[in-house]
Amino acid sequence: MSDNPLLERMKKEGHDRLLIGGEWREASDGAEIDVLDPSTGEPVASVPSASRDDVIAAVDAAEAASEAWASTPPRQRGEILRRAFEMMIERSDELASLIVLEMGKTFAESKAEIAYAAEFYRWFSEEAVRNDGSITLAPAGDKRIIAIGQPIGISVLITPWNFPAAMATRKIGPALAAGCTVILKPASDTPLTALAIAALMEEAGVPAGVVNVVPSRRSSEVVPAMLDDPRVRKLSFTGSTEVGRTLLEQASKRIISTSMELGGNAPFLVFEDADIDAAVDGAMVAKMRNGGQSCIAANRFLVHEAVADSFAEKFAARMRAVKVGPGMDPGVDLGPLINESAQEDMAESVELATGAGGDVLAGGKAPDRPGFFFEPTVLAGVPADAEVLGREIFGPVAPIVTFGSEEEAVAMANDTIHGLAAYLYTGDLSRGLRVAEALESGMVGINRGLISDPAAPFGGVKQSGIGREGGHEGMKEFLEIKYIAASW
Ligand code: NAD
Repeated sequence: MSDNPLLERMKKEGHDRLLIGGEWREASDGAEIDVLDPSTGEPVASVPSASRDDVIAAVDAAEAASEAWASTPPRQRGEILRRAFEMMIERSDELASLIVLEMGKTFAESKAEIAYAAEFYRWFSEEAVRNDGSITLAPAGDKRIIAIGQPIGISVLITPWNFPAAMATRKIGPALAAGCTVILKPASDTPLTALAIAALMEEAGVPAGVVNVVPSRRSSEVVPAMLDDPRVRKLSFTGSTEVGRTLLEQASKRIISTSMELGGNAPFLVFEDADIDAAVDGAMVAKMRNGGQSCIAANRFLVHEAVADSFAEKFAARMRAVKVGPGMDPGVDLGPLINESAQEDMAESVELATGAGGDVLAGGKAPDRPGFFFEPTVLAGVPADAEVLGREIFGPVAPIVTFGSEEEAVAMANDTIHGLAAYLYTGDLSRGLRVAEALESGMVGINRGLISDPAAPFGGVKQSGIGREGGHEGMKEFLEIKYIAASW
């Protein structure tokens, strides 16, 4: 028993099982995944761990529902998404408490995630009716060139644990808007939120088989089984670059269309002409949103040498004031990390930075308490070639490096295999735009630490990904363009 009312209701109604073709089922071989509360390390629930047979049954269900869903009028598909948006907002407190339970972030952050996640349904309810094509006269005048977008087909969606609601709706929303049926495999650390959203979508009117959810501890077995199935036409993945690389190889066998939202190593540039207090505010958001466990989290603070001391002191003071504790406790700003290995990674990042000559200005260790916590940490004077700067830190640890010129700052920022997000603070907008254009990243925040927006195209360059989610681009990832040559 947990004291989470939504979880207890899910257990009672069987909504903590696999969802395949509108039925809530056990795994074919009875295997289960324990879901832990990261603030205690204790199990709070167990959900079935889908087998190969289960995921193929999910493909069967997605196929059975596919034709009817693709031919459901776009307005009707949009209205179902719109209802799901409204229901998520109405139930945001209980959904947020489930995120806190299995993922650990604070209640306030969990509520913010539910609002963000729901917005993808609102946005794609509006996009569903805007699947525009084109008709042009061929340059030679011999025919009309008609281009239309058709649903790409059965889509496999794989999501990470760090935003268990938003990463799911950012894929389900556009897929359903486009007329595709889906099989969602959520991260095994956080399957409950995805199951709760799927149950809510059933209530909102999503027909059986359109959304199937198959948590599984056996990803490296069940995902290739789906990708090998000729009925599957799309893979949309959010997760680490390493797993993305493996999945791209697997998808290449059947030339499956892929969208890849992968890891990041975001630079946060502070120029000498920046408003330092505003930059510190932005740093707190860009670093500490989701406890630093975000693909777009500021990972390297690159600060002009003239303002580095003042920025570091102010940033460290703010980080020291962050209250650490279980996500549901009032007044807590920072919850635990997802698991023990994440906690060990933070200690290792601190060691790498101090070993290279960095100084600890705030935090630096795990607090003496149960659960996977780590103190908000600021490391100043880290040399530009320190190994830690090549890592995706994914937690509340902030290394600061100094630079002397704009050119040097851009070169340092681009010195990574990743290219997801970047942030810069300057009082000179023309410098801001010039540097933004020079940065090798899919997204840039100028004088702001928060960039995510369902209406904006989210995605990376280099080894941070392929494709975009959200914006007008999001639904296109689930459409195939057909060209029809016509004479009349
Ligand atoms: P992960 O790559 O370990 O796992 C992501 C998903 O892939 C999970 O569902 C997992 O079960 C599954 N998976 C793992 N191994 C697999 C395999 N061999 N075959 C098939 N599926 C497999 O990532 P994570 O630890 O859950 O999430 C953190 C990572 O996600 C970070 O690198 C972060 O930057 C990235 N991320 C990227 C974005 C983005 O939009 N670019 C957003 C959030 C997180």
